[in-house]
Amino acid sequence: MDKKKLCGLTPGDILQVADIPGLTMPAAISVTNSIYKKRLRDVSEFPKISGKLKHQIAEIFTAGIYDHESSVVSSDGTVKYLFRNGDGLVFETVYMSDGKRNTVCVSSQSGCRMGCPFCATGRLGFIGNLSAGDIVNQIISLPDAGKVNHVVFMGMGEPMDNIENVLKACKILTSEWGLALSPRDITVSTVGILQGIERFLAESCCNLVFSLFSPFADERKKAVPAERIYPASSVIELMKNYPLRKKRRMSVAYVMMKDINDTEKHLQGLKDLLRGSSVRINLIPYHAIAENEAVSSTPDTMMHFRHELVISGISASLRRSRGADISAACGLLASGSVS
Ligand code: SF4
Repeated sequence: MDKKKLCGLTPGDILQVADIPGLTMPAAISVTNSIYKKRLRDVSEFPKISGKLKHQIAEIFTAGIYDHESSVVSSDGTVKYLFRNGDGLVFETVYMSDGKRNTVCVSSQSGCRMGCPFCATGRLGFIGNLSAGDIVNQIISLPDAGKVNHVVFMGMGEPMDNIENVLKACKILTSEWGLALSPRDITVSTVGILQGIERFLAESCCNLVFSLFSPFADERKKAVPAERIYPASSVIELMKNYPLRKKRRMSVAYVMMKDINDTEKHLQGLKDLLRGSSVRINLIPYHAIAENEAVSSTPDTMMHFRHELVISGISASLRRSRGADISAACGLLASGSVS
């Protein structure tokens, strides 16, 4: 019988899977601390557990922590990792550090079924969902795992299309028995699958980012096919009206493309959509991909948008781009580019 992987389980899951007399809730919490905080890969090294219990645990479980297959380092220090899980699914992870803020950008799926034409991952199509263990492993298996203080779900895949595993990963990341990160330091990005967003808001305290692309439905449909089923207007309404708790942040990500979504008409559309709400907007430079002629808006245009939005009472910021030279920037993850 195949052994179960501890990485991806809660203490409750461990008790449910293993019918071992001495395995109490405190012992199960000690096991998850060994996996998520100490990142121990050998059950025999788990502290605070008797030798007999460790032997019984090792008969049923493995740690389930596995290494990346390859990696590549950007000129700005950003590192992109390529993983392959036990089912052969390939996916990418990005680690960025500015010395204080150490962020891992995780994938939630291998490929993506949302089909956004400007995104390299979308062109791969959907290959498979990642388990909660695969998601958490992208953090705890990294060489700098101990330094990670922020996690963003902005890698391959649409998190709300794999909501069960994403919610479980968020639970492991934020629980005292897990990585014990603050929910305020976890951000999940979506193109707007409404049912997934509703569950995410109700069942976690983590931040939400909604990828808009255009304030106009007819334009957005072309860039984000999900708009046909989940209109941005409904998502923004939900974000505006959802009671904010514990300093949770709700933001809109706006990837800016020259002459496509950066005209004065678009600026006015953004103001009309967001005015009077606490939803923030992040303006992001576009990274060109092969067979797409679109290029990023100029820094001047992006500054102009930010200025105009801010003086209209909307919280707006410019996001610095990292890792573009290794295809690790937003929308560029497509596997196989790690050598
Ligand atoms: S932008 Fe996001 S949702 Fe759209 S295809 Fe790319 S990964 Fe999927």
